[in-house]
Amino acid sequence: MPELQATAEARTAPRTDVAMQPEGSPPGAVPASLPTAAPQPAGTPIAISARDVSAWYGPKLAVSGISMEIAANAVTALIGPSGCGKSTYIRCFNRMHEFAPNARVGGEILLEGANIYAPRVDPARVRQRIGMVFQKPNPFPTMSIAENVAAGLRFQGIRSRSEITDRVERALKLAALWDEVKDDLKKPGMALSGGQQQRLCIARTIAVEPEVVLMDEPCSALDPVATLKVEDLMRELAERYTIVIVTHNMQQAARVSDYTAFLLMGDDGAGHLVEYSATQDLFTHPQDKRTEDYITGRFG
Ligand code: ADP
Repeated sequence: MPELQATAEARTAPRTDVAMQPEGSPPGAVPASLPTAAPQPAGTPIAISARDVSAWYGPKLAVSGISMEIAANAVTALIGPSGCGKSTYIRCFNRMHEFAPNARVGGEILLEGANIYAPRVDPARVRQRIGMVFQKPNPFPTMSIAENVAAGLRFQGIRSRSEITDRVERALKLAALWDEVKDDLKKPGMALSGGQQQRLCIARTIAVEPEVVLMDEPCSALDPVATLKVEDLMRELAERYTIVIVTHNMQQAARVSDYTAFLLMGDDGAGHLVEYSATQDLFTHPQDKRTEDYITGRFG
């Protein structure tokens, strides 16, 4: 399997052109905002560089030329009204968008400097390095708690029982679930509560030791207590992983993220990046009137 090449320069490359729109944006597009200040300070290690990324479903343009640099070991939140392309955009980050019929991606996405869409790159390897947690907890229904976490390890070809046992325990500990399930590892994953199931899915994702974890509305099916647990977990995980979260909940973005990007649908019906900056700046001093209107609840 070809490995993506990581380059030291890419991790520390200064950011350029964040939030610029591509040349030739369609008429009626949301006007480009100024390049914004995320991630800062310059020299912040970068995990993913998305350059001029567009995404289509058949003829329908869903995401229009969005460039973002995603800081390593930080939480980056994408916010914006429903339908503005947030999920589609992050599904481009680990080559999941291409599962949709007639889906297409334009632009480049570099993981530590190497384009994940380059010829000969194995999409399965990309999805291992950039894992994903979904809106609805989705444990494998016929598997026990331990088997759920071990599934990705077995897929990787790991056969040693002791290695699997160790890595399952480590992942469940990292996902802050171990203490609740350590005596029930053989019980079905589906027997857990919704919040526990979501932490199980996080454990399953991190068991294969990804570099980036994408989370698509990971708390929207959870009650407030379970939501806070998953939010705490995100902060802890950011010490080891790069986290990108899609959320429609602005308070959540403000609570958990270091950087926030605000997306909006343009007149062309596709999602555009309006503003991207350190979370505190975006929520206290938005640079764009549309961001201000959105975060103060005037629309969306
Ligand atoms: P958000 O995550 O911001 O709610 P999405 O990325 O889910 O937005 O959707 C962006 C646009 O792409 C919407 O117009 C949506 O209807 C469309 N879309 C999403 N998934 C599909 C799909 N599988 N097939 C066709 N269109 C889709």
